[in-house]
Amino acid sequence: MCIRGGRKSHSGLLKSIRKESELPDHFDLVALSTFTAQLKEAWQVADFYRRKNIPVVMGGIPVSSLPEETREHCASVVIGEGEPLWPAVLDDFKRGRLQPFYVQTPRGGFDLREAPMPRFDLLDPDKYNPITVQTSRGCPHKCDFCASSILLTPRYKLKPVEKVIAEIREIKKIWPHPFIEFADDNSFVHREHYKRLLRELAGEKLRWFTEADVRVAEEDDLLGLMRDSGCQQILIGLESPRKLSLEGVELNNNWKARQRDNYLAAIQKIQSYGVTVNGCFILGLDGDTPEVFDEVFNFVKESGLYEVQVTFLTAFPGTPLYQRLKEEGRVIRDKAWELCTLFDINITPKNMTVAQLQSGFLKLVKRLYSGDETSARRRKFKACLKTSPNFGRRAVAKGEALLAG
Ligand code: SF4
Repeated sequence: MCIRGGRKSHSGLLKSIRKESELPDHFDLVALSTFTAQLKEAWQVADFYRRKNIPVVMGGIPVSSLPEETREHCASVVIGEGEPLWPAVLDDFKRGRLQPFYVQTPRGGFDLREAPMPRFDLLDPDKYNPITVQTSRGCPHKCDFCASSILLTPRYKLKPVEKVIAEIREIKKIWPHPFIEFADDNSFVHREHYKRLLRELAGEKLRWFTEADVRVAEEDDLLGLMRDSGCQQILIGLESPRKLSLEGVELNNNWKARQRDNYLAAIQKIQSYGVTVNGCFILGLDGDTPEVFDEVFNFVKESGLYEVQVTFLTAFPGTPLYQRLKEEGRVIRDKAWELCTLFDINITPKNMTVAQLQSGFLKLVKRLYSGDETSARRRKFKACLKTSPNFGRRAVAKGEALLAG
């Protein structure tokens, strides 16, 4: 699951702004957060403001993993969750005594019951949709490559149902028909909590997306509530169809490898409720050999996955994977954080060459995303829905309309 420090593609901040002279500079204080792949660009932006004597505060996951390097570019570095530290930053700024580091102790100690209402009204409505809402933070699993909020919080934390619904109603004042993306690493871990949330959501007439793990398929009533509350798709980090490649990926109790045998049934069950699955695979895992590319392709076909994402294994700063591969001398161009896009290679794979990984990946991408394969996946999903007892006739028509859109 999770964006893993950047499941989504990024476009350079400076590239999109084009040149420094286009940066606005009418600020008293600048706060910057960033994806890992944009970290160096964010440092450049911070340098720009520093030259203008405007203090810069930086925070976020990569910054929390690289505080000393970041401090060279800004006045203050926020390490950990921002909510409990930000008021102190503002207070110190007003008194003219910004500290070099603001460190959350204990790490991950913020209670989401205290989460403030986000200022959705500050967003340009034309530029933002889907709109993100966080319903939980953290994940009970510990994947060695994961650069997600588990680096900020060791505990899985839930935002109260009432707060989530209040945020959604606030969003609807600006976007009457929003598409909501739950900015969670792993929704549905606490089933009863999420069932309560989904019952409330059903009245809001939304369409929404989230990230979860395969265990969501274990409970029909949860899947039914997802369908009825407007869930369009869930993203699941399947990582690999190859059990050997999954071995040791999850560090607590090898959870990912133990789930492998459930993958096909779980995908079919979830999709039978009209909820599409976006299956994510990582190429370059230690158990991968050059045959893995065909295995991913064949698995995607067999599973009927509606959507698929493939990325390279990436060593993000602060992760156990980075530490391990660094010790093994397998991090390519150390500190080249701009390679942490998930579509560039920054590690030496164990059982193939970098060139094999690169070319196998490119061929796989061409096959998976060809027009024929993409249409075949869509057709298969629709055909399955027509006979699915979990979807229903009225819902089929609605689902087809949505899919057509
Ligand atoms: S399942 Fe693994 S990759 Fe996904 S959020 Fe949890 S720890 Fe990260």
